[in-house]
Amino acid sequence: MGNPKAFLTIPRQEAGYRPLHDRVLDFSEVEQTLNTTERRAQASRCMDCGVPFCNWACPLGNRPPEWNDAIYKGKWELAYKLLTATNPFPEFTGRICPALCEKACVLNLTTHEPTTNREDEAAIMEIAFKEEYVKIANPERNGKKVAVIGAGPAGLAAAYKLNRKGYTVTVFDKNESAGGLLRYGIPNFKLNKAVIDRRLKVLEAEGITFKYNQEIDVTKLPAGFDAYVVSTGTPQARDLNIPGRELQGVHLALELLSQQNRILAGKEFKKSELVNCKGKNVLVIGGGDTGSDCIGTAHRQGCLSVTQIEIMPKPPVGPEDPANPWPNYPRILKTTSSHEEGCTRRWNINSLEFLGEDGKLTGVKVQPIDWKPNPEGGRPIMVPAGDPEVIKAEIVFLAMGFIKPQQPDFADNVFVAGDAANGASLVVRAMASGLQAAAKLDAWIKKQ
Ligand SMILES: Cc1cc2nc3c(=O)[nH]c(=O)nc-3n(C[C@H](O)[C@H](O)[C@H](O)COP(=O)(O)OP(=O)(O)OC[C@H]3O[C@@H](n4cnc5c(N)ncnc54)[C@H](O)[C@@H]3O)c2cc1C
Ligand code: SF4
Repeated sequence: MGNPKAFLTIPRQEAGYRPLHDRVLDFSEVEQTLNTTERRAQASRCMDCGVPFCNWACPLGNRPPEWNDAIYKGKWELAYKLLTATNPFPEFTGRICPALCEKACVLNLTTHEPTTNREDEAAIMEIAFKEEYVKIANPERNGKKVAVIGAGPAGLAAAYKLNRKGYTVTVFDKNESAGGLLRYGIPNFKLNKAVIDRRLKVLEAEGITFKYNQEIDVTKLPAGFDAYVVSTGTPQARDLNIPGRELQGVHLALELLSQQNRILAGKEFKKSELVNCKGKNVLVIGGGDTGSDCIGTAHRQGCLSVTQIEIMPKPPVGPEDPANPWPNYPRILKTTSSHEEGCTRRWNINSLEFLGEDGKLTGVKVQPIDWKPNPEGGRPIMVPAGDPEVIKAEIVFLAMGFIKPQQPDFADNVFVAGDAANGASLVVRAMASGLQAAAKLDAWIKKQ
């Protein structure tokens, strides 16, 4: 620990977002970067706590005190080695992880000014690629073949680990490229897809084979492999089957997000297929991160207005909720870069009916509601709390989460990972789960 008093004298400094008027004009990443001097100053704030809760809170078990100290001392290659000892792809988490470690940071618990671990990760990786610290591994092969079904963060992490252990790995994906929701869900303004391509080049150079446009029936896994990882995510979004669902203009969130990402990758769509918000009043149903990504995308497409409604109550405004203290995950109001770009946000709103004319959406009938405790225990009861009203909208996005898939009874040589195993979650959890599946698969093979 280089500077034992830095946390007392140096405030937390986030790189922040590009100016609003500038960033809404394009799909480039909204987050800025600190210069190296500022980054080292931020890293110096890490106190090297006796029991670093950050290490426990990170699903990958990352060790921020170790690499923050290395950053502070300017030892970037060491920082890279320490970081990648636990995290296979910190350039992803460094951009889009909600930083569970920072919620657990002692500086957060005491002053609400945690260390900037997530940004520090991204900084380490940009330097590591630039300075060519990222080397192509050439593992000795063990003669065993593994198939990974699904090239999202869980599948990529499993493939990376198994390949490094000497397995010959083939990754199958139904899409035209790898990344899963990193590529076809999360907007470019949060994660530039060149960051995924850069990593894929390394994985391919290390010997992993990718086979695209291959939709695998997981009950009939491809023959010729000693073991399998199934990491197919949560493909089914929660729908809203209220009257008018068939109207033109009602879409699942990913219809917008994945199409926009494909357009930015150069794919062309027929006019009739386009999901576009230009000149429209947009309503997003669902108050979470997917909804927020729809808001940012709608702005960049030139919408007239955006409203986001959520059926649950408004979460408490932070920095903490005394009713839900650490170590629980803080369920406080989150305002993203997309919300800052302009959005009316409403809570305790139930959707009753999609309204339309000539088959096209014109608005959504909604009703303010309240939640009353259930006298029999269990989920609270929804009760009306106001008259129905109409929110004018020519386009609606349903962003209400994803259904956890039921997996078949797999043979002993099949290991399920990521959202496919645990339900919709986070990239960092998917990667951790992919690494765990790889470790289980390796242990199983060694017992045969
Ligand atoms: C819009 C949106 C924004 C998000 N933002 C964030 C964020 O900012 N931070 C964060 O941490 N998390 C975020 N998440 C969650 C995160 O993206 C997921 O938890 C994570 O991607 C799950 O990884 P996975 O590998 O398990 O599944 P996925 O990423 O879903 O990947 C599954 C892969 O399997 C492939 N596949 C599926 N079925 C088959 C089949 N039968 N045959 C072959 N291939 C198949 C799919 O094509 C896909 O490539 C977001 C999610 C969404 C939807
Ligand atoms: S992956 Fe996320 S939780 Fe883990 S150290 Fe990085 S920012 Fe923190």
